[in-house]
Amino acid sequence: TPLLETKNVTYAYPNGPAALAGVSIKIAAGSKTALVGPNGAGKSTLLLMLNGMIRPDSGEVRFGGRPIAYDNQSLRELRRRVGFVFQNPDVQIIAPTVEADVAFGPVNLGLSPDAVRRAVRDALGYVGLQGYEKRPPHHISGGEKKRVAIAGILAMEPAVLVFDEPTNTLDPASSEEVMELLDELASSGRTVLVSTHDVELAYRWADSVILMAHGRVLARGPPEEVFSDH
Ligand code: ADP
Ligand code: ADP
Repeated sequence: TPLLETKNVTYAYPNGPAALAGVSIKIAAGSKTALVGPNGAGKSTLLLMLNGMIRPDSGEVRFGGRPIAYDNQSLRELRRRVGFVFQNPDVQIIAPTVEADVAFGPVNLGLSPDAVRRAVRDALGYVGLQGYEKRPPHHISGGEKKRVAIAGILAMEPAVLVFDEPTNTLDPASSEEVMELLDELASSGRTVLVSTHDVELAYRWADSVILMAHGRVLARGPPEEVFSDH
């Protein structure tokens, strides 16, 4: 069974055209998948659907082989397991210090203060930001903000990490660091899914590519195959 799966999902924004026109994908546990396509292809919409933030008009999303449910309790659980890192870290960073920001998820999960401290320390260590605990997150670089946002998700120990255009707002050096971090996440057994319009990045990084345009899947498979005829 794939860890995450959509079956023929469709979605249109209110007053909008079809953003997803029947999309079926499968994400294997432990894979590094890139969702590739031009702006407007439907990538973000599909990613938001995978952790329940958008509910399909028709079709179905499955996690661990079971259709996801949309009551509050199920959604909370799903979002802990399928962590979502937004393109712009500023929408995700909400607390006055790096430490408080990364602690937000674990505190919400009801972990003990000790467990929260451990989760924060481990997550900040993982993304290479130990020593940043007391810094105000709006006074650090874009690359560092991105890593704070990633640490905040990691602190909840999700099985899947979903990144919407992870390198879009970053300079080349920070982009490289973030992609290396995504490799480490995958090597440690997590499932990593990114959306990108950057074919080069997808080719170099992913082990599985899903090519999208106009709300549909055009091709899928290993990058060498998908990009050989496109
Ligand atoms: P079937 O059993 O109908 O032949 P599958 O179960 O293999 O098809 O796939 C069901 C749907 O999931 C298909 O529409 C296909 O496009 C999609 N799909 C299958 N494998 C993958 C994959 N590795 N990545 C993305 N989508 C996939
Ligand atoms: P991508 O991530 O590939 O750029 P999106 O999923 O953001 O694609 O967009 C798919 C389609 O849905 C586009 O036509 C886009 O204009 C439209 N869309 C995206 N977000 C909204 C929104 N909040 N309201 C209305 N239409 C939207």
